[in-house]
Amino acid sequence: MEQGLSGWRTAMYAELAAPLGQVLGDRTAKEFATLRIETVGDLLRFIPRRYLSGTELTDLGTLVEGEHVAVIAKVARISRFEGRNSPGRRETRPGRLEVLLSDGNGRLTATFFGKAHLLGWWERQLGEGVAGVFIGKVGSFRDQLQMSHPVFAMLDAGGRIVATSEEKERIAALATGGLVGMYPATAKLPTWKVAECARLALSALSAVEDPLPDWLRESAGVLRLADAFAAVHHPLSLAEAARGADRLRFDEALATQLTMAYRRADAASHTAKPRSALPDGLLTAFDARLPFQLTEGQTEVSAAILDDLALARPMQRLLQGEVGSGKTVVALRAMLAVVDAGGQAALLAPTEVLAHQHFQTIKALLGDLGGGRMLGTPDVATDVVLLTGSLPAGTKRSALLRAASGEAGIVIGTHALLADRVQFADLGLIVVDEQHRFGVEQRAVLADKASSRPHVLVLTATPIPRSVAMTIFGDLDVSTLAELPAGRADVSTVVVDAASRPAWVDRAWGRVREEVATGRQVFVVCPRIGGRGDGGEGKGVVELAEELRSGPLADVRLGVLHGQLPSDTKDQVMADFAAGDLDVLVATTVIEVGVDVPNASMMVVWDADRFGISQLHQLRGRIGRGGHPGVCLLISSVPAGEPARDRLDAVASTRDGFLLAELDLEQRREGDVLGASQAGSRSSLRLLRVLEHADLIAQARELAATCVARDPGMTTPGFADAVRATELLASGDWLERN
Ligand code: ADP
Ligand code: MG
Repeated sequence: MEQGLSGWRTAMYAELAAPLGQVLGDRTAKEFATLRIETVGDLLRFIPRRYLSGTELTDLGTLVEGEHVAVIAKVARISRFEGRNSPGRRETRPGRLEVLLSDGNGRLTATFFGKAHLLGWWERQLGEGVAGVFIGKVGSFRDQLQMSHPVFAMLDAGGRIVATSEEKERIAALATGGLVGMYPATAKLPTWKVAECARLALSALSAVEDPLPDWLRESAGVLRLADAFAAVHHPLSLAEAARGADRLRFDEALATQLTMAYRRADAASHTAKPRSALPDGLLTAFDARLPFQLTEGQTEVSAAILDDLALARPMQRLLQGEVGSGKTVVALRAMLAVVDAGGQAALLAPTEVLAHQHFQTIKALLGDLGGGRMLGTPDVATDVVLLTGSLPAGTKRSALLRAASGEAGIVIGTHALLADRVQFADLGLIVVDEQHRFGVEQRAVLADKASSRPHVLVLTATPIPRSVAMTIFGDLDVSTLAELPAGRADVSTVVVDAASRPAWVDRAWGRVREEVATGRQVFVVCPRIGGRGDGGEGKGVVELAEELRSGPLADVRLGVLHGQLPSDTKDQVMADFAAGDLDVLVATTVIEVGVDVPNASMMVVWDADRFGISQLHQLRGRIGRGGHPGVCLLISSVPAGEPARDRLDAVASTRDGFLLAELDLEQRREGDVLGASQAGSRSSLRLLRVLEHADLIAQARELAATCVARDPGMTTPGFADAVRATELLASGDWLERN
């Protein structure tokens, strides 16, 4: 292996992985770090938002306050305001130049402050009726958009930049023989500086060999990588720039799909024990006692899963379905089939509260079928154990023993199940609830616990558009439960405007009292545990609960639940609420996933604008489960018209989780969906938009399958590097939300 590639197998990947400081120096690198551009590759893949040919006019109608932009506009009018002499002072106060810019679509005022001689100089530079490039931050003054002290360069009649001042020379230099790339800029990194740095990085790039083999590049119809970098950073035409961007985008799609394809191939190369339910076994006994009929969807998905389990290769399946769509029953049927076949099933929940709740739900559904093989229990019965970090030592020891001996057919727990000490006699199936909180690596760790590979079923209540599912869960087959079981009641959602209608908030608490009076239960959800303590609007769950207790909800039995409570307190509160011993539960989002209290029919979300669309939808899924019509009140002080308020209105307008998921995605962009931007690390999807580029993703997926077929051992250096890069990005938090 070559020296100096630090684990990379192609020179190109090694160079792209180099820290930016090596090429630009540490000071400049630090400035780029604020844009999360840390390596040479990051910078080269950071491409201009648009290009100026010098002849086109920017649409001034689309400017947004706070943005750094470059616009091309004509100077429509220059108004000069001389500084006045203040009495008793010799010096003249600075005057100001107001330059009205126009492009036919909108107007913008550029303002310059200075002494008379400066004003005169600017005035001569600008010239009424002349077009120029203006670069700066869009601010506002008296409700009008304006830029103060933009950097500018005027254009001659042919659209060329007239070079005079230093900046103008810089801009002009960038434009030589082609287009000027306009990068998303910051105050410290104006667009021309980004351009200079990109140019420097590009010229320092010595690797010429493309990491992708010729056949692949040709099938995809994309430029060579080095050419693509040159094309995006200084193209001669817009078409060339677009071709460059196509290659970079293709690389992103391919890297993900290659990783998934190799994972799928790897999973398929392992054998699993086929597990089939017995004709007169546990599954049959369970079906016979099920108090309801499976929906068509449940029956279909269940059949597909049971078919998978009967194969000698490990199932890798994602089951997605709205909250309350009945995934748990489907998963349980799969577990019972495995137990029938002599194996064990593990169910992993994201939190202890949920693990506990799954345990109780499953115990209840199974009745004496889950009571272990004891005198008096049906002889097909199995043992269900709970294994979490906070169990008393004795209980834990016994649970561990029963898992290891195989006595426990079903083991339910949290990450504690991943601990080394947990052994299974014959682990046949792993069910992971709420995939987005578990990384791929964690799944892999658990899979390693079995001698042959266990089958894996992943449950998620977060509806995922198909293209996203392909990108994120490309190594899984996807099943969807589309319908809700019959008897699921309507939930009406209303946004309560706390700022303009404070009386409505009182009315909301009145509504809570009415709901409780009819014997129903209510969730009150609050984004934070503690208040902000600065007298601002932010109220914490503790504070809100106190206020309700001593005020509008003094007469109801009220409990508080949040993540910082000791775990036995949490369990107790949850159990009390589930048992109906509490009327109102004031809680943080710990109740977001899976909590199932059919008698809860109302939810009040405090500071609802603090939540994202999907999260609100998820929360709302906690009510309307028991056949009682539900009411969800979203309390917020954000005025109508703001994006945060639009989100609330969207949630109020529909219960279609897929629709909301797409809206969410559009609003937050994919980086957030993957969790990367929140975690502050780099997103692997910079150019790729999973909704917009669904076709490209599908193409990459097909080509990736061809790659794996031609090179099953991943001997192509470029493939190995692409997969490694993807996994490096993914390690940690790629798939994790929160
Ligand atoms: P999910 O896990 O998808 O959120 P659950 O499996 O917890 O949904 O189901 C929600 C509720 O609906 C549970 O109380 C469950 O017992 C019930 N349920 C599941 N399937 C059906 C069905 N086919 N008919 C009626 N009720 C059902
Ligand atoms: Mg569930």
